[in-house]
Amino acid sequence: MKLPPFEYACPASLDEAVALLAAHNGEAKALAGGQSLMPMMAFRVAQPSLLVDLRKLPGLKDIKIGADGVHLGALVRWRDILDDKQLSAAHPLLKEAVSHVAHYQIRNRGTVGGSLAHADPASEMPGIAQVCDAEISVRGTAGARTIKAKNFFQGALTTALAVDEIITGVHLPAWPKGRRWGFLEFARRRGDFAMAGIGLYYDETGGKAANAHIGVFGVGDRAHRLARAEAALNGRAVDESVCVAVGEAAAAEVDPQEDIHASAAYRRSLTGTLTERALKAAAARVSA
Ligand SMILES: Cc1cc2nc3c(=O)[nH]c(=O)nc-3n(C[C@H](O)[C@H](O)[C@H](O)COP(=O)(O)OP(=O)(O)OC[C@H]3O[C@@H](n4cnc5c(N)ncnc54)[C@H](O)[C@@H]3O)c2cc1C
Repeated sequence: MKLPPFEYACPASLDEAVALLAAHNGEAKALAGGQSLMPMMAFRVAQPSLLVDLRKLPGLKDIKIGADGVHLGALVRWRDILDDKQLSAAHPLLKEAVSHVAHYQIRNRGTVGGSLAHADPASEMPGIAQVCDAEISVRGTAGARTIKAKNFFQGALTTALAVDEIITGVHLPAWPKGRRWGFLEFARRRGDFAMAGIGLYYDETGGKAANAHIGVFGVGDRAHRLARAEAALNGRAVDESVCVAVGEAAAAEVDPQEDIHASAAYRRSLTGTLTERALKAAAARVSA
């Protein structure tokens, strides 16, 4: 399918890129890997008059691992995350989640910033951002600001980004040793968007779960945490009955949509099953 006509700019600085977006007042779009924007343009879902290619902007391709956590620049690609051996220990949940993103070719071009900005409810990266209480750094004409993941995602394909703002990176808080985690999703074919997915982790104090973080994606209009399922896990010694109870709490808590891929009832049931299984995997696995 042919793309609609558009102008193209490839600025060398963030200031220039932001100024171009601001000058077009919502008619211009940032271009990262094009893996979502190009199909959207081909289908005429988006028709920007100008594409502002981000690829020459300095400093947006870094992966930094420090005592305070993991920083991913906006132009970090899925392939970069999967190839980074240090991330296996520094953030195993992130790495596992990204291994489920799309197909080989798309993982070579698709980016962290593009996925966050696109805000597909079924995407893994927004799910991980929510589960981990990530902070998203952005720059616009008014300057830089940081937005918590829970405030960033506002609905399907809708975020708190202003039209002149560019995501520069995302910060995931430090991942302590001994943390238990699980990630599971269900798609009809590997690499497809998930009908439902669960990412979770908890720490342990005195043999009991604490600091439970459970997030769901592909169910509802955005990825989000499941407060009642987390409450059902915190303070409990994790055994079979707790895994079942937390799964039931998760299924009861979601508000699934129905679409051509699955009914709402199916997604609710899937949420419960995936939560229970991810929790069992977490109980059997400790971060080194
Ligand atoms: C067949 C197919 C299957 C896929 N399956 C999956 C999947 O299973 N899971 C999954 O998560 N994704 C999937 N994707 C999407 C893929 O992961 C993309 O990488 C992701 O959506 C972002 O694309 P991109 O980085 O190329 O951004 P682009 O397509 O270039 O941009 C996407 C949107 O984000 C905006 N944008 C990009 N970068 C920034 C920035 N730094 N600041 C502000 N705005 C920005 C653009 O203006 C545009 O609106 C799939 C894509 C395809 C084509």
